[in-house]
Amino acid sequence: MEKTLSIIKPDGVSKGLIGEVIKRLEAAEFQIVAMKLINMTKAQAQGFYAVHKERPFFDSVTTFMSSGPAVVMVLKGVNVIAEYRKIMGATDYKKADEGTIRKSYATDIEKNVVHGSDSPETAAFEISYFFNRFEIVD
Ligand code: ATP
Ligand code: MG
Repeated sequence: MEKTLSIIKPDGVSKGLIGEVIKRLEAAEFQIVAMKLINMTKAQAQGFYAVHKERPFFDSVTTFMSSGPAVVMVLKGVNVIAEYRKIMGATDYKKADEGTIRKSYATDIEKNVVHGSDSPETAAFEISYFFNRFEIVD
């Protein structure tokens, strides 16, 4: 069993896609072991995406991530890090497979509806960034 951090980004929340995304997570039989609605500050978004601080899109993506409410969740399942990224689709929705969340709903390489951790190390960092252990029903 593995855990991963999922975010329904501000574009997903403002487009009314919370239910749609959660429906897909449940259909995939991932267990939701933590969930909350937050509005990140710019500083919190910068800390979250610190690995990208040298990238040209860093300022823009952290402004976007702090632009409104987002749903943060911890998902649990067998191989859930990779399995969830399959359901999300490629970062650039134009390159995402048919039937993925990003292919269905993303409108922009930046505004791509969802986030998912990309390795066990980043999952551990990202989960602890938003949740303490009493908030995870494990
Ligand atoms: P995420 O980490 O959000 O799950 P990802 O792992 O598919 O997405 P990353 O390379 O980690 O992609 O990029 C983090 C986020 O930064 C992307 O999801 C997207 O919102 C934004 N981003 C990535 N590349 C670009 C780009 N070239 N231009 C604008 N924004 C970008
Ligand atoms: Mg990433």
